[in-house]
Amino acid sequence: MAKRIDVSGLNAYYGSFLAIEDISMTVEPRSVTAFIGPSGCGKSTFLRTLNRMHEVTPGGRVDGKVMLDDENLYLQYGAGIDPVAVRREVGMVFQRPNPFPTMSVYDNVAAGLRLNGKYKKSQLDDIVEKSLRGANLWNEVKDRLNKPGSGLSGGQQQRLCIARAIAVEPNVLLMDEPCSALDPISTLAIEDLIGELKERFTIVIVTHNMQQAARVSDRTAFFNLAAVGQPGKLIEIDETERIFSNPSVQATEDYISGRFG
Ligand code: ADP
Repeated sequence: MAKRIDVSGLNAYYGSFLAIEDISMTVEPRSVTAFIGPSGCGKSTFLRTLNRMHEVTPGGRVDGKVMLDDENLYLQYGAGIDPVAVRREVGMVFQRPNPFPTMSVYDNVAAGLRLNGKYKKSQLDDIVEKSLRGANLWNEVKDRLNKPGSGLSGGQQQRLCIARAIAVEPNVLLMDEPCSALDPISTLAIEDLIGELKERFTIVIVTHNMQQAARVSDRTAFFNLAAVGQPGKLIEIDETERIFSNPSVQATEDYISGRFG
């Protein structure tokens, strides 16, 4: 079930370095929100605070609040981090497809389910098929489910990673530049897929590609930083159409028209 993300007053640090400052935003369920902005402005850092992955980096810490509907992500698990529980609820897809290299296509998709509980073989079969269909990959792999996932093309591997992420039925799907290692055809396949997945999930995508942000997202958040060494900030968030046609802030206009970054 897709959930609303509600962030308020969020700061994230690497040791004493404040990487992002005072971020507040709401992401509606069953929508796609794109994060854009120049390199180093904290888009990936912010994304990783949304599933507590930021704290896995040595020195990584956060203050502020991230709510998933009415659960506070930074209270719910107390001081200890429970990555399995967090990732079950907030799935993530990375820049480079990262299937488990020695596992078969089938086992890649089933991996998260096996961590999360006991399923009968027939149940696993059903979920694996449903997830691969959901990731628009089933027809391409149904005859090679027992072959290594690493034998697929880059675009197929990324869809396999999406199938793995959605198999555990997360509430939110985070994507960190999911197409940056892919060719244009595979990129379009992933973009189409994002359009389908948003009917079921809350989706946040970091992208360097502004056409992609314009194509896939409902809302766009523009991040910027005053200078290197300064924290990244959220400059504005609005309907994507508005950000790309008539943004409220001059820096957004400059960025989307290619005047910097
Ligand atoms: P973006 O995704 O917008 O390119 P990042 O979130 O990767 O930006 O980086 C934001 C800031 O945090 C940058 O100044 C970057 O150098 C710094 N940073 C990112 N990862 C680390 C890390 N593991 N340790 C220390 N600083 C980091």
